[in-house]
Amino acid sequence: MVQTDPQADGSAPAAAPPAGEAPAPRRPSLSPSRAADFKTCPLLYRFRTIDRLPERKSLAAVRGTLVHSVLERLYDLPPARRTPENALELLEPAWADLRDEPGIAELFGTAQPDGAETDANAPESVEAWLASAGKLVEKYFALEDPRRIQPEGREQLVEVTLPDGLLLRGYVDRLDVAANGALRVVDYKTGSMPREAFESKALFQMKFYALVLWRTRGVVAAQLKLIYLGDGDALTYAPEETELVRFERTLLAIWSAIERAVATGEFRPNKTRLCGWCDHQALCPSWGGTPPPFPAEAAASAGWRTTLPVSPA
Ligand code: SF4
Repeated sequence: MVQTDPQADGSAPAAAPPAGEAPAPRRPSLSPSRAADFKTCPLLYRFRTIDRLPERKSLAAVRGTLVHSVLERLYDLPPARRTPENALELLEPAWADLRDEPGIAELFGTAQPDGAETDANAPESVEAWLASAGKLVEKYFALEDPRRIQPEGREQLVEVTLPDGLLLRGYVDRLDVAANGALRVVDYKTGSMPREAFESKALFQMKFYALVLWRTRGVVAAQLKLIYLGDGDALTYAPEETELVRFERTLLAIWSAIERAVATGEFRPNKTRLCGWCDHQALCPSWGGTPPPFPAEAAASAGWRTTLPVSPA
């Protein structure tokens, strides 16, 4: 995953400019997760990307972040030390870095009088939850031997500006480069492998990275690999250049639709069973709610073109 987006909108902070240079102006960009949002429900895209409404964290999502952090740190160790035991040792420091982030403490039972974070016997205790993350980390070793892998990048920002100006950016969980230059893009998922009918949805994100890498390096990735730690399975795919050309056209079409929606402020809701996971039902017309007025001013200052009235600066 490019799984854990360092920013809430899935985009990342730009790399620091050279000393003495002004930072590049912020401008809208497309990440795999935000493109997927728009495809799923344009109004969800608006709430997340334009309104930037807060969303609740979930135990499953935070566990995903924790496991990603452990697998990233695992590759800081010398190859011979990348064992399951040492990986499990990385859980505590990774958790120490995560536990104070906003919204995380509230996911667990209240602190105990003896100073413990939670009641260790409760099913939602930190201890039980950490143990479940540990099981996912252990499963990783059934799928790959990290002693034999030397990644070129981990949690690596990849970005490219397409000829028509669309900025694509995202984070690759792991990028491997073979001695002959062949690229492998790896993404860790803490859930289970999707059924065949949903494979293309899972591969959308991976093709996005393949497209950016092809456009920046001129090399079509030899393998896109999704590792599902939930059931210990993996999905691999070898994209072709013609496919990436088509995929680029798809992204451009999605981007045109997003730009039209921002220009007019019209983001239609798309009610599906995925609404069950949406934090914004109370503001959604499909569920009897009313969205807040479109924040044209915020959109304009974030670099979007809008035809809606914006107060002069
Ligand atoms: S509740 Fe459903 S239709 Fe409404 S914004 Fe969320 S995903 Fe879209």
